[in-house]
Amino acid sequence: MSMISRALRAPGASRGLVSVSVSPWAGAWGGRGFAAAPGGEEQDLVVIGGGPGGYVAAIKAAQLGMKVTCVEKRGTLGGTCLNVGCIPSKALLHSSHMYHMAKHSFASHGVVVENLGIDVAQMMAGKDKSVKGLTTGIEGLFKKNGVTYVKGWGKVTKAGEVHVDLNDGAGAATLKTKNILVATGSDVAKLPGVAVDETTIVSSTGALTLSKVPGEMVVIGGGYIGLEMGSVWSRLGAKVTVVEFLDRIVPTMDGEVRKTFQRSLTKQGFKFKLNTAVKSAEIQADGRVKLTMAPAAGGDTSEMVVDTVLVSTGRVPYTEGLGLRELGVEMDKRGVIQIKQDGSFETNVPGIFAIGDVVPGPMLAHKAEEEGIACVERLAGKGGHINYNVIPSICYTHPEVASVGLTEEQCIEQGFTVKKGTFPFMANSRARTNDDAEGLVKFITDANTDKILGAHIMGPSAGEMIHEAALAMEYGASSEDIARTCHGHPTLSEAVKEAAMAAHGKAIHF
Ligand SMILES: Cc1cc2nc3c(=O)[nH]c(=O)nc-3n(C[C@H](O)[C@H](O)[C@H](O)COP(=O)(O)OP(=O)(O)OC[C@H]3O[C@@H](n4cnc5c(N)ncnc54)[C@H](O)[C@@H]3O)c2cc1C
Repeated sequence: MSMISRALRAPGASRGLVSVSVSPWAGAWGGRGFAAAPGGEEQDLVVIGGGPGGYVAAIKAAQLGMKVTCVEKRGTLGGTCLNVGCIPSKALLHSSHMYHMAKHSFASHGVVVENLGIDVAQMMAGKDKSVKGLTTGIEGLFKKNGVTYVKGWGKVTKAGEVHVDLNDGAGAATLKTKNILVATGSDVAKLPGVAVDETTIVSSTGALTLSKVPGEMVVIGGGYIGLEMGSVWSRLGAKVTVVEFLDRIVPTMDGEVRKTFQRSLTKQGFKFKLNTAVKSAEIQADGRVKLTMAPAAGGDTSEMVVDTVLVSTGRVPYTEGLGLRELGVEMDKRGVIQIKQDGSFETNVPGIFAIGDVVPGPMLAHKAEEEGIACVERLAGKGGHINYNVIPSICYTHPEVASVGLTEEQCIEQGFTVKKGTFPFMANSRARTNDDAEGLVKFITDANTDKILGAHIMGPSAGEMIHEAALAMEYGASSEDIARTCHGHPTLSEAVKEAAMAAHGKAIHF
């Protein structure tokens, strides 16, 4: 018997396969010419969610010889990351950085720009073009690797069975499968008293589509996403105030680096209200937003009226409506799916696995991808694993801030006797030549063994350079290993070498 309900069969479909040429069924399967829909065939793996965790897992599983179907409700692949996260935000960060450079730095290089202006619509069009190119590229990768793509809402009805409500009212399908991988990602966390309308009071998604530069903007939450989106609009001319409940921005960042970073953002025009709780946001008759705030520890309220408010107080796992609670899949009260600690990514229900933003750990695209690969490698009987101690995190502001491993504070908390080496970009010839020399590189090592425990870079292209430290840490390297590795001159990476030299002994150029 077919694994797909009859309702899904296109009229005239033969050999148990869905005809992909007959409307409306074809669209439901997400693209013509894909691997044949799994009519009559049990799948080895059904992945729910086509984000970086899910689509990478699906491709890898197919490469390992599995029959794979990926179910995605959005209508495009790539998940939060490609559609409303990493990629569109970086597109706007790049465009706004170019504008900022043209306005503030070009002249000192002798580059004269007259009548400089911003065409926000064109900036958005450029961003949308990048997103479209990349999301359709994943469809191409599915086709190339033989992954079946089903557009619709997936729900686990029992282990081994996924029910799909197909998009565009195209009916429903029941997929039989040996294994199910939940990769449904995350959604914006709500803030009580602040109703997002995605026009005036926006989440990160709305902040990626504003039609004009706000005069004044408040960013609620001083984390990576808030600071990145705040940077975009600040560079384009908005006066940005970050309101943060805690006594610090980006609490996961190394303390020394964070202080330097906050100074840099302040110099760029950011204002910070720390230890402050937003109580409510109200859109007034003139279209502006009145924010009511109070000290985090309690006390008198204050008000502020701005044009746009970005709510950026974190993200929550997207696990409701998936049928998981009914099946007894263990989740914590925030909806984070609990997985076995044996590296299999299996939940407490056999045959149901979970990866990415729905499971514990940092909500990062590359972490989701690594988990997807490790999970399906294990399913294929191979030895996939992840080193959670070496997951880089990057804030794509300018300067960028990138880190891997432990912060100095964490090293001390964990009882290490630490040694550290820092090197400022002011002493790096390439950074000086580029007139882009803000920031530093910092290595923290175990004073007894010289093993690298953490690396932190604030500076131009920090997000690229951090991978040298990550690779070194994967191989259990010491700071001496990096210090004795010949680095090309003149490069920004020489600052990495010099910081390692400083940790091991002494830097040359500082
Ligand atoms: C503004 C912003 C910027 C970011 N920048 C970065 C960055 O620079 N670097 C970085 O590493 N991370 C970044 N992130 C985080 C990153 O996007 C996520 O960590 C990553 O996308 C998680 O991948 P995932 O596969 O677990 O889930 P997601 O990417 O969220 O994908 C899950 C998919 O599942 C689908 N889905 C959900 N439920 C169902 C269902 N029942 N049936 C079918 N489909 C379903 C959703 O539509 C979604 O497409 C950013 C996030 C935001 C919001």
